[in-house]
Amino acid sequence: MKYIKLFTPVTVLLCSVLLTSCQVNWFGQTFQIKWWVILITVLIFTAVIFVIGGKSIASHEYICPECNKKFRPNWWTSVFTIHLNDDLVLKCPHCGRKGFCRRCD
Ligand SMILES: [Zn+2]
Repeated sequence: MKYIKLFTPVTVLLCSVLLTSCQVNWFGQTFQIKWWVILITVLIFTAVIFVIGGKSIASHEYICPECNKKFRPNWWTSVFTIHLNDDLVLKCPHCGRKGFCRRCD
């Protein structure tokens, strides 16, 4: 399961780098951009989006349907878990149940 979670972002990053042209035309002038500049830019942009999205999702409280206790997931877990609308697959820190937890705020 951990490999599947890493497969998608790595594939997206590799495809976006490999399909990107390294020649840039800017107001009639042509520039050659090194592939590693594009890779670093894509990596930084992706990391920023993941951190912002994860912190946004983790700012909400979720309720466990088993023990009805509220908890906040950490941002790293909330980014890579399965989403269905506002529900996330999370592991409850109180009872240990892993499953869909509803957002309660
Ligand atoms: Zn629970």
